[in-house]
Amino acid sequence: MNESTDNRLGLLDRMRVVMVETSHPGNIGAAARAMKTMGLADLWLVAPRDYPSAEATARASGADDVLARARVVDTLSEALADCTLVFGASARLRSLRWPQADARESAEQAVAELAAAPQARVALVFGRERTGLSNEELDLCHRLLHIPSNPQYSSLNVAMAVQIVSYELRMAALDGRHRIGEELGEQPVEQAEMERLYAHFEEALIELDFLDPDNPKHLMRRLRRLFNRIRPTRNEVNILRGILSAAQKCCRGRNG
Ligand code: SAH
Repeated sequence: MNESTDNRLGLLDRMRVVMVETSHPGNIGAAARAMKTMGLADLWLVAPRDYPSAEATARASGADDVLARARVVDTLSEALADCTLVFGASARLRSLRWPQADARESAEQAVAELAAAPQARVALVFGRERTGLSNEELDLCHRLLHIPSNPQYSSLNVAMAVQIVSYELRMAALDGRHRIGEELGEQPVEQAEMERLYAHFEEALIELDFLDPDNPKHLMRRLRRLFNRIRPTRNEVNILRGILSAAQKCCRGRNG
């Protein structure tokens, strides 16, 4: 293996798989194995039902190191805090509120992001065996990833979905279309920083009497979707925060 192949596969070190409330520990083990065969290692488990478990370790086979390193957290936003681009894997095609792509295109976009900026970290979120991901969870995702399957029977076992996407990621990384560091643009923004922006929006919009906390409708969800679609840069986020602070100051001056 030459050095550039090594470097390209190294992009996968910043690729995270997140499994939400997985019921069957065997699926967690099988997903760890699927990841390791394709060179992925960063697994996060959000409130798994039955874990740690001997069944997970057994199904991981030789990939128990991936399981041993897996992080267990209570909420999806914790698992995404340091990520700059998030894909939600869904067995169903949803409405057009989220940009969607198949596994191959998504892998290509993920690798392009990782190659363009050393600070980039990309997450792939997989849902519960029975009910998949909720709309609130998809609100934390920039894009929807759908593996085009039989529309009459579209739902894959979750570990198999992890396998297919991990394979596409490896192929996209090996492809070498995106030269590492070549597309240095502006710094991508971590999800934790976006959460601070949403909290600031909420606080300011309540102060400005634009948002009624007793009847919020879907305003914050709509703003999340807007910004997920746009993916503002760090600089743009700072400008928005500055505008919000100025509006709050002005409002407090008038009211005080
Ligand atoms: N009945 C559920 C299916 C969940 S399958 C639903 O309709 O959403 C468990 C998880 O595997 C899904 O949440 C998704 O993350 C992944 N998955 C299964 N089939 C998939 C497909 N065709 N494309 C993308 N992800 C899929």
